[in-house]
Amino acid sequence: MTYEPVIGLEVHAQLLTQSKIFCGCSTLFGGEPNQNTCPVCAGFPGVLPVLNKQVVEFAIKAGLVTHCAIAHSSILARKNYFYPDLPKGYQISQYELPICTAGYIDIEIDGTLKRIRLTRIHMEEDAGKTIHDARGAASLVDLNRAGVPLLEIVSEPDMRSPQEAGAYLRTLRQILQYLSICDGNMEEGSFRCDANVSVRPQGSEVLGTKIEIKNVNSFKAVEKAIGFEIERQSDTLSDGGKLVQETRLWDEHREQTRSMRSKESAHDYRYFPDPDLLPIIIDESWITEIRAGLPELPNARKARFAAGYGLTPYDAELLSSRRDVADYFETALAVHPNPKALGNWIIGDLFRVLKERRLDEHLYITNWPVSPQYLAQMVQLIDEDKISGKIGKTVFEALLGSSLSPHEIISEKNLEQVSDDASIAATVEQVIAANMKQVAQYQSGNEKVFGFLVGQVMKATQGKAKPQKVNETLRRRLEKGA
Ligand SMILES: [Zn+2]
Repeated sequence: MTYEPVIGLEVHAQLLTQSKIFCGCSTLFGGEPNQNTCPVCAGFPGVLPVLNKQVVEFAIKAGLVTHCAIAHSSILARKNYFYPDLPKGYQISQYELPICTAGYIDIEIDGTLKRIRLTRIHMEEDAGKTIHDARGAASLVDLNRAGVPLLEIVSEPDMRSPQEAGAYLRTLRQILQYLSICDGNMEEGSFRCDANVSVRPQGSEVLGTKIEIKNVNSFKAVEKAIGFEIERQSDTLSDGGKLVQETRLWDEHREQTRSMRSKESAHDYRYFPDPDLLPIIIDESWITEIRAGLPELPNARKARFAAGYGLTPYDAELLSSRRDVADYFETALAVHPNPKALGNWIIGDLFRVLKERRLDEHLYITNWPVSPQYLAQMVQLIDEDKISGKIGKTVFEALLGSSLSPHEIISEKNLEQVSDDASIAATVEQVIAANMKQVAQYQSGNEKVFGFLVGQVMKATQGKAKPQKVNETLRRRLEKGA
């Protein structure tokens, strides 16, 4: 019997607001424990939460770009459970009437698009963090994260392989990053994923027993954990065993999941509307305003880059995958419209420097090692034959550590390309005089020596002679005989 996997994902995306969802505390990551807390997020009795409007705005943005319906009226609910990092004894979330429903995301698998439906997107607060002492002597609670705003994005069980789950997560993260509403940092937990995995006999329409996997904090881990679960569940069923609905933890080191607890159902949480918070009423005019301010999304930009600038799909993808890079590329293009050459410099040289300097860890780079204007000016100098492509590499490196323009660097370092006939001819004469043996070899039919002689002329001009002109001049001169 072969089994078909059925996968649905729940993503928690931390929103990039300055302050928390129901109080004015900072959302900054990495502070001293309990530095960013107040009576509201620490769950003191009698305090009143006040909803952060920007959280609603970000939720609407996420809903619009994922084709969701935006609810004109939605409510915040209490999800009741006890845990030491949740001092109120409940989490404020949404249950009935979430803000966004019934959307979808298109993912690309081997060049074909597949549509993954979204059940809902809702707003909620994060819990604090319990830190267990290594000696087992104590557990400490840090409430800096309590009240940090999250979007929970729930997909329909539309994925059928670990690869599809990976593609879905990458696409979703890229969209949220493009919107600048989530930094997508999985290591810091600002983009987290729980996976619901079940298997069923191939051809069956009935859903199997659902297992939830928690604690997966990289794309690779999600794919591995899902792959492990598919195999474990299929093997159990093949051996005549039974599966129980439960939550399992992914163990990164052993590369396997292990049982954590039997899965709660919604009724265990006794959701009810939070009496401290009014229903959220959203005007159509606000939605229209937010829609008008949405950026062009990665897929659309990629298509435009490929069609409009004649780039290969691969280059178009690399240049559009980050919003800052795509903006950089188009700023440079406005200065010098050579998409192919600019794209090559960005994908090759600029990307290398971004990685070396770890600038690619920023959500949106603003302090570029080379400004788009200067990169464009440099490519223009190459296109106008003022410098060779090879000297371009030297100029690029010089631009990295300097505030000088490409023109200034070229004149300061005396790098301008030598293309005047007299000067090249003179150097050719010197090289011939100094290499009579090789000249003789060439003239007796050894074509390979020509390359050597070209190299000598280039060397004598410190690489500044225009290679094509050197070729022509040398060839003509040698035809005449020594
Ligand atoms: Zn607070």
